[in-house]
Amino acid sequence: MSLGIYMQVPFCQTRCTYCNFHTGVVSSARFAPYVAAVQTEIGEHQIRLLQANIVLPPSLAQGTVDTVYFGGGTPSLLDPQHLHAMLDAIRETFAHHFREVTLEADPETIGAQKAAAWAAAGINRISFGVQSFSDVELQAVGRMHRRADVYRAVPILHAAGIHNISFDLIAGLPHQTPESWRNSLDELIQLAPQHVSIYLLEVDQGSRLGSELLRGGTKYSAAAVPSDDAMAESYDLARATLHAAGYEHYEISNFAKPGFASEHNRKYWRRAPYLGFGAGAHSFSGTHRWANAHDAAAYVQSIASGKLPIEQLELISTSQALEEELFLGLRQLAGINLERLQKSYGVSISDRFWSLESSGLLERDGNVVRLAAKHLSISNEVFVELMR
Ligand code: SF4
Repeated sequence: MSLGIYMQVPFCQTRCTYCNFHTGVVSSARFAPYVAAVQTEIGEHQIRLLQANIVLPPSLAQGTVDTVYFGGGTPSLLDPQHLHAMLDAIRETFAHHFREVTLEADPETIGAQKAAAWAAAGINRISFGVQSFSDVELQAVGRMHRRADVYRAVPILHAAGIHNISFDLIAGLPHQTPESWRNSLDELIQLAPQHVSIYLLEVDQGSRLGSELLRGGTKYSAAAVPSDDAMAESYDLARATLHAAGYEHYEISNFAKPGFASEHNRKYWRRAPYLGFGAGAHSFSGTHRWANAHDAAAYVQSIASGKLPIEQLELISTSQALEEELFLGLRQLAGINLERLQKSYGVSISDRFWSLESSGLLERDGNVVRLAAKHLSISNEVFVELMR
């Protein structure tokens, strides 16, 4: 069985105003102890999981790690030696045949020496937080990089032999206009990354910008955030532009040139097992989901004292598993295969889709149900209706 490993690096240089992740701005002196704790967690994961009565099924315990994903935070802030050490801990602990090793990177953190060291460590895919090609928008949300950094970083990666590059863009940043969004898409296509993720600005209490928007304030350029309708139009323009440029739309937020869909992220959407290491990292064994403590200092302390860093543990019931299949299946443009689900779960689920089909939100094609293309930008509303 193939196995994915997620490594969480919860450190950033500053905090972007729209960020709702558990990350911290800390002294770089805290990086080495954190990396050492992650190495320990990897090496001792089986013993520590047993302490929590989590027994990995043999297929998973003996699985071959073929994808690794360093996410964060800003994992590219770490010394490349640290990333190398964490990958070596995986090599020493698991059967492995790395096909895709992704590092999330911010463009301004990239230099020629770093990129060469990443490639030497085995990293072969970079996911860039580009977010926009407008310096006004980048500055408004507190990003550290500017448009020029993206143009500087891409050739550095190519020179280091890393050619599998993904760009993230966010629709709905403050000061974004239809023209600036179109320009960001055009510049992205000129740089021809192999993979693109398009996100809509998330508005919730977890970020400074989100909570300002919810209370109707104007701090953090909240008054300059485009309307929901404008964001939906930006998403639709991205779909059309990327399709015309040869990208396949394979998941609500993700587009890839043929052969470059993210193998690691596909494991999440297909409910394949994965293990996560580091503060706040999540794991899924096929029957259980669990999450480590979010606080990096508490995580390091817990590992040092021989305790489990696990903060949440949940046994997934059959009905929860089916709900997950529906939610994750509809996120993928290939849709849900009803026959497969009905065989796996022994229930007929066809009726659940009728009202959403009759209102045009879902489409059926033989045994396959999928979100209607023109309603992809309101997928969350459709999911809420489906789970009622
Ligand atoms: S770089 Fe990413 S993780 Fe860090 S604060 Fe910004 S959005 Fe959050």
